[in-house]
Amino acid sequence: MQGLTPLKEAQNIVLEATQTLGLEKVGLLDAIGRVLGEDIIASRDNPPWDNSAMDGFAVRWEDIKQEHAITKPVELTVIEDVQAGKVATKAVGPGQAIRIMTGAPVPQGATTVVKVEETEPVGDTVRIFKEVERGGNIRLQGEDVKKGDCIIAKGTPIRSAEAGMLAILAKSFVLVYQRPRVAVLSTGDELADLDERFDEDKIINSNSYGIAAAVQEAGGIPILLGIAKDQPAAVKEKIAHGLNADVLVLSGGVSLGESDFTKAVFKDLGAEMNFWKLAIRPGQPLVFGKIQGKLAFGLPGNSVSSMVTFEQLVRPAVLKMGGHRSYGRPVVKAVFQEKFSKGTDRRHFLRGILTREDGVLKVRTTGGQGSGILTSMVKANCLIDVPEEVERLTPGDTVTVQVLSGQF
Ligand code: AMP
Ligand code: MG
Repeated sequence: MQGLTPLKEAQNIVLEATQTLGLEKVGLLDAIGRVLGEDIIASRDNPPWDNSAMDGFAVRWEDIKQEHAITKPVELTVIEDVQAGKVATKAVGPGQAIRIMTGAPVPQGATTVVKVEETEPVGDTVRIFKEVERGGNIRLQGEDVKKGDCIIAKGTPIRSAEAGMLAILAKSFVLVYQRPRVAVLSTGDELADLDERFDEDKIINSNSYGIAAAVQEAGGIPILLGIAKDQPAAVKEKIAHGLNADVLVLSGGVSLGESDFTKAVFKDLGAEMNFWKLAIRPGQPLVFGKIQGKLAFGLPGNSVSSMVTFEQLVRPAVLKMGGHRSYGRPVVKAVFQEKFSKGTDRRHFLRGILTREDGVLKVRTTGGQGSGILTSMVKANCLIDVPEEVERLTPGDTVTVQVLSGQF
């Protein structure tokens, strides 16, 4: 019998076979969640000019420097009132002040801004009750962004912060990596699709939707090929429709039963193929190869197995194609709350519920862990990664957890 393949080894083979896609230009908001395909070089300083950090009065620091400001306020002549979006037309001279708004350019001659709360207007003068250090309440030109600097590097995933920065830099379109197109096919005579009338003895094709959703979450574009009957010709015909996508993901038919044809079909189509019995649970035999240069995965049919193997093997490939440079979920340590035992031949991924209690991350399983129990995935916000060699866990043990969703 073929030995078990460690997951890490399979992941390395998949990632080595995976090429990052090319670039495309998209509008700023369409770039959210995508990966930047160019270095963003600042074409201007930000702030573009010295500007006020407060609503207040622009003054010469020498004029307000004094020790007993509260009892003996300085009194300056207000020579101009600059509204938002306007620029002062005058320069601040000795004994003078200009009223300005937050963000307004600092007028010529002024070296300090006194915030309005520390002043009192009297007619066309203003009393200053507090000394402010030289340069106080002034944001300097270029203190945020310097013209010519690389502000966001190629390979950065674009979040709201990057979107705001791109807007500051007047980049309404950016180059991002293309989204991988992933063709999804379910196989099995027992399956019926959502849009079909089906008999009670049929099983609804849920894998296609779970997998397509996971593709979408990883930034890919799912293409639903539907269901193929358990006949080599039927599987081949459906695969032909998927070969103009970047990746093919099949589920079902990878075991060695009479109606399992995925492996044979991959071989017939010329796939350089890896047929793995992965050393993980859940996770059955799994086929991976390239058909006409396209990555092709044959995942196990059991719903949980297909989701967990997608998570560990297909998702990293989809992320890499889309330009990402790290492919794992966030990993944390948490305190296990239950008893658990297993053999030492496989790494287990238990579906878990991660919580934070009194500042401590704790994790328990979702209950039944059978590979057909899809509710275990529905309840889970994490996968508890129990290494091959671990035989038993008891309450209080520290475990490694892959975070799938949620805030902690
Ligand atoms: P297989 O790997 O083809 O032997 O499938 C194993 C089991 O997974 C089947 O008996 C079905 O119960 C289930 N299964 C296979 N494909 C799907 C699917 N597309 N949606 C839901 N369940 C499936
Ligand atoms: Mg089957």
